Amino acid sequence: MKSELKQFDKRSARDLLVGAGLRPTRQRLSLAELLFAKGDRHVSAELLHEEAERVNVSVSLATVYNTLHQFTQAGLLREVAVEGTKTYFDTNVSDHYHFYLENEGKVVDIPGGLRVSELPDVPEGMEITRVDVVVRLRPKQN
Ligand SMILES: [Zn+2]
Repeated sequence: MKSELKQFDKRSARDLLVGAGLRPTRQRLSLAELLFAKGDRHVSAELLHEEAERVNVSVSLATVYNTLHQFTQAGLLREVAVEGTKTYFDTNVSDHYHFYLENEGKVVDIPGGLRVSELPDVPEGMEITRVDVVVRLRPKQN
């Protein structure tokens, strides 16, 4: 997803799915439209499920989960794991890092980015695929 906001509609959703090698089923189209029409963002399966219900898209939470994982595997989303139980899906798949606002349960991009230097040596025969950084925040205590 480019950072400039363009009109994202049913047709864009279809092009996106087909381009990623996914069959554009009705449910996938609806979820893609919900996900990508609002620019760069971080959503949980629960949030996307609520949004779907709000616009009368009938889809189970399990289907939302499966679809988010399919989109991730197809390279349309990037998974941001914050805690064991909580996974967020990022519509921006480029390299960037995150703040996690513990009190709000929200993931946001670190503005201006962050430089990661001094990467560790990796075991022989292995290579680094990606570096994830989540900086956890809370309101100052007293
Ligand atoms: Zn992000």
